[in-house]
Amino acid sequence: MTLGSAGRPHVLIVGAGIVGASIALHLARDGARVSVVDARAPGGLATGNSWAWINASWGNPEPYFRLRVRSMAEWRRLEREVPGLQVSWRGGLIWDLPPAGLDAFVAEHSSWGYDLSRVDRAEVLRLEPQLARPPEIAVHAPGEGSVEPLAASGALLAAAEAEGATVLARAAVRRLVLTGGRVTGVETDAGRLDADEIIVAAGVETAALAATAGVMLPLRASSAMLVASRPLGPLLNGLIVTPEMELRQTAEGRLLAAADFDDAEPGNDAAAAAAALFDAVRRTVRSDATIEPEFHRVAHRPIPQDGFSAVGRAAGIAGLYLAVTHSGITLAPAIGRFVADEILLGRRDALLAPYGPDRFIIGR
Ligand SMILES: Cc1cc2nc3c(=O)[nH]c(=O)nc-3n(C[C@H](O)[C@H](O)[C@H](O)COP(=O)(O)OP(=O)(O)OC[C@H]3O[C@@H](n4cnc5c(N)ncnc54)[C@H](O)[C@@H]3O)c2cc1C
Repeated sequence: MTLGSAGRPHVLIVGAGIVGASIALHLARDGARVSVVDARAPGGLATGNSWAWINASWGNPEPYFRLRVRSMAEWRRLEREVPGLQVSWRGGLIWDLPPAGLDAFVAEHSSWGYDLSRVDRAEVLRLEPQLARPPEIAVHAPGEGSVEPLAASGALLAAAEAEGATVLARAAVRRLVLTGGRVTGVETDAGRLDADEIIVAAGVETAALAATAGVMLPLRASSAMLVASRPLGPLLNGLIVTPEMELRQTAEGRLLAAADFDDAEPGNDAAAAAAALFDAVRRTVRSDATIEPEFHRVAHRPIPQDGFSAVGRAAGIAGLYLAVTHSGITLAPAIGRFVADEILLGRRDALLAPYGPDRFIIGR
């Protein structure tokens, strides 16, 4: 990498969501000159609409499980290091699979060292007394947590700025600038910005930007419905994953539920889907106060073609690094740390090694 004028590499990050913010913090802290540019207000698009569960649960192959577990540990480190960053480690209760599936999940993840236990109805009610329809069997994952995602990405970005990073908001990047086969900058609404390395961490829009340099990244935007109630007194202690939805209570007291919803499917009605999800929330949680809807949103998760992260340099083109993933709330701390190590020290962490974008980039 060529060095910027101050003798430090100048890295420009496109995207100030949780992934871009974490990368900015780790790079700035480790000595890079960092600029962040975002088309919108900082905080992120998927990030702001995320259910924001920090976990290593579910059907992940072991290498991906290990990356997630590492990132959970990195959240605990960031919590100590970043002023104002709060993670709620309240644990999860999961029963979105038939009993045999839950048993297999516990057996596999326990054998990998993950703290999980199978709990019966009485224990479910001890953990979550306000559940209206507790399952006969669930899995309890006490080490899992959540963040309020906009607050968390804001805290990471503020910490990056305290380390010298600069943030340019509301300046859309139209295209990457190629000079002699190398990406040397970006063209934005506010003019051209040059840097030694460009990191595209633009969530669902990462593929469109990479394409402006001829790099075709297979990425889909998977849609989901998010509904929130008006704030209520304490009802839930932790995170709930049922066959119908993911449900937690936010720091402000809102019941926040997410479920799959295909907005590309003709005839799918977002308002009706939101109302149905809201009814399911009311059936799930007992509350003396009326549970009233506050808002719903159709949101999109960035998901690389095979479902795993796409984080690394794009082969055959210098100066360009891509960082896009689903489960970005869980994975942002590890990704930020590993990307900084790779860019500044040339060392790619073994946990990230399988997830370079080159495994499916076509073109170039
Ligand atoms: C409903 C829902 C539930 C989820 N639940 C979970 C969960 O429980 N746990 C979990 O770990 N993950 C979850 N996720 C996924 C997680 O939220 C995302 O993986 C993560 O937020 C992605 O962060 P990001 O920074 O890559 O993208 P984003 O937050 O989308 O940020 C990308 C930024 O790039 C900017 N940008 C885009 N294009 C340009 C451009 N051309 N020029 C300048 N700026 C640009 C955007 O304005 C945006 O600010 C969920 C997502 C959704 C939608």
